[in-house]
Amino acid sequence: MFVRRVAVIGAGYVGLTSAACLASLGHQVVCADIDEKKVEQLRRAEVQIFEPGLPELVGEGIAAGRLEFVVGVRNAVRDAEVVFLCVPTPMGEGGAADLKAVEAAVAEMKDLLAPGTVVVNKSTVPVGTAARVLELLGRDDVFVASNPEFLREGSAVKDFMHPDRIVVGSDAQNAAERVSALYARLGAPTVLMDAASAELVKYSANCFLAMKLSYVNAMAELCERLGADIANVTEGMGFDQRIGQSFLQPGPGWGGSCLPKDTHALLQIAEAAGHDFELLTATINTNEKQSRLIIGKVANAVGGDLKGRKLGLLGLAFKAGTNDLRDSPALKIAKMLKAEGAELVAYDPAIPQAVEGVTGDVTVVDDVQQAAKDAEALVVLTEWPQFRSLDWAALAGTMAGQVVVDTRNLLDVDVLTRAGLTSHGVGR
Ligand code: NAD
Repeated sequence: MFVRRVAVIGAGYVGLTSAACLASLGHQVVCADIDEKKVEQLRRAEVQIFEPGLPELVGEGIAAGRLEFVVGVRNAVRDAEVVFLCVPTPMGEGGAADLKAVEAAVAEMKDLLAPGTVVVNKSTVPVGTAARVLELLGRDDVFVASNPEFLREGSAVKDFMHPDRIVVGSDAQNAAERVSALYARLGAPTVLMDAASAELVKYSANCFLAMKLSYVNAMAELCERLGADIANVTEGMGFDQRIGQSFLQPGPGWGGSCLPKDTHALLQIAEAAGHDFELLTATINTNEKQSRLIIGKVANAVGGDLKGRKLGLLGLAFKAGTNDLRDSPALKIAKMLKAEGAELVAYDPAIPQAVEGVTGDVTVVDDVQQAAKDAEALVVLTEWPQFRSLDWAALAGTMAGQVVVDTRNLLDVDVLTRAGLTSHGVGR
């Protein structure tokens, strides 16, 4: 079998998943992080992120001697044939991607790499970063490739092991082939291309998804004005194979660790290239408008004024199936409600307690009853499926008001009605 010595830099959602999955494919993997505590925990197969199957895969990799965790780039790269950069690229000044972590990792590895090593950008990085990394490496005996990652939080292992496609870009064809060969066992469609195109694929895909969601949210608003139901409209649209069923669900606005930063980054990339990307600007503006619409909806539901009103929030994570709070629309809505004077108590099944510096706008409780108690309204912000089967009649009995604002159109309206609750959804 084709086995490679692989280094993975960064043990977050992308890095840890890649490291554990590549080890499960038979490769010899060393995964490095700067966070010593995280490395300590991972050596004991303790995974702090909420990803089905990941702790098991990490444990199996360690037990098989194929997966190792180290602190610092220098301890991972010396023997590697392929080095994956999976470090954060958050939104920097003016919206552009901040490449400090990429640059720091490259600076640390440049004199340690064996000749012939391929350094692979798996982080989402602007067009031109592969060329920039090669320049920073300052060597003509190593290669750089771009291999954007498309996994989704909450199903990261499944997405990595069963990808819709694998994209590898390099201006050195042999390097791209060597990287794609690591995934050969997955049998996924593989597209090889130049580095700049591969870098753009990731932004193009994420911004398209953001645009799809903004479009649906805008249609939902129109449905409300016209007396139509967005669920019927999207069902009718989704059967068209050119459109597809997914990403047609209205909500409180898109968020998470990728879409906001990637839309802003692509806007910057376009601007720098002299292209006025009006469609992307409209996508972002529509999303901003969506949060304001939701605040208006909640205010109307409790009689107009939010000052001093006690609200129970259901969900804090940016989507169901994860405990990731980065750029969560739920937190954005919470902040806006708080600014209007509301008192907020929140429950999320994946976030049992307050997170310092993150959940300051809300009191976090560890069961739904506490969130509902004396609440004038409950506001569903994350689409956790278990919210559907709550004992709504019992919750209604403890609430001060009898109103639910369901920003995800998650709950069964008939069930709520039978429980004596008035519900307000989006786009119906
Ligand atoms: P993350 O924050 O979960 O993980 C990044 C890890 O890198 C952290 O553990 C951090 O301690 C570590 N790190 C930072 N600087 C380092 C350095 N110099 N050396 C070693 N380790 C370092 O981030 P993530 O969500 O995995 O995202 C990583 C990249 O992948 C980003 O560019 C992101 O846009 C992209 N991406 C993310 C997802 C996703 O769903 N999270 C999906 C596809 C692509």
